[in-house]
Amino acid sequence: MEIRKFVWFDFNTNILLKSKFKNTKICKMIYQGVLKKMMTENGEEINYYLDMKTDFINVNQLLNKEISLNFITYECLNCHLEKKIYRQGFCKSCFFDIPSAGDWIMKPELSRAHLDEEDRDLEYEKSVQLKPHIVYLANSSNVKVGVTRKTQVPTRWIDQGAHEAIEIVEVPNRYLAGITEVALKEHVADKTNWRKMLKNDVEDEDLVAWREKLKQYIPQEALEYFIENNSETNLNFPVLKYPAKPKSLNLEKTPTFKGKLVGIKGQYLIFEDETVFNIRSNEGLVVSLEI
Ligand SMILES: [Zn+2]
Repeated sequence: MEIRKFVWFDFNTNILLKSKFKNTKICKMIYQGVLKKMMTENGEEINYYLDMKTDFINVNQLLNKEISLNFITYECLNCHLEKKIYRQGFCKSCFFDIPSAGDWIMKPELSRAHLDEEDRDLEYEKSVQLKPHIVYLANSSNVKVGVTRKTQVPTRWIDQGAHEAIEIVEVPNRYLAGITEVALKEHVADKTNWRKMLKNDVEDEDLVAWREKLKQYIPQEALEYFIENNSETNLNFPVLKYPAKPKSLNLEKTPTFKGKLVGIKGQYLIFEDETVFNIRSNEGLVVSLEI
């Protein structure tokens, strides 16, 4: 993705706020848009971007700055109506209707496109499910197994706040990845503890050794797709200060929040007062961001 070419702080699109005192202008940057998970770019340090309709914000450049977040309303990421968000950024009717929110998203083992069987929209399901998928181990708070499309590596790992990860198998469809994950999670976790991840209360694990140990549990159908040789990927998050006791911000209950940004990890913004805000779980909220 060609992200680097975007200009930071396009002054033409900034809003100039006039204070109540005549002739006094306070220059503030205000962005408004619907929250979607931050885009990322891996490098020596991960770069994060927020797409706020007319502006593309490099969130790393907000580190050490006071920012304020204000909840305005809802906007479903599918129908764009002002409806309360149910899950994954969608309103309730979209969530139960659109092909990109089928049960096989969260439970890959329920995938059926490889059998030519439709869930909600076979063409869509084929276009996603019949693509190379990766079963991986990621260490964010503990070692866990997960599934992602090959094109989502390392994005998926970054979104989970994993500081290290490794691929186990590369299979031709989502179903095979799903049954492999189901088999492996008998022997390794499949969840992350977000508090531990944010506190950086983590241990360095030998994922190559984990992978070798788990190989025996890969289902027969997927075993031929075991990746013979690979090494850990290490990820470096832009965090100046980890919180000792992270407390989660609920913007619907507390519609205005102001604080100094001191880190970004996973899809979380971390503030100096130890408040954390998960952008991903707030998808579909229309907010303004004041800098
Ligand atoms: Zn909707």
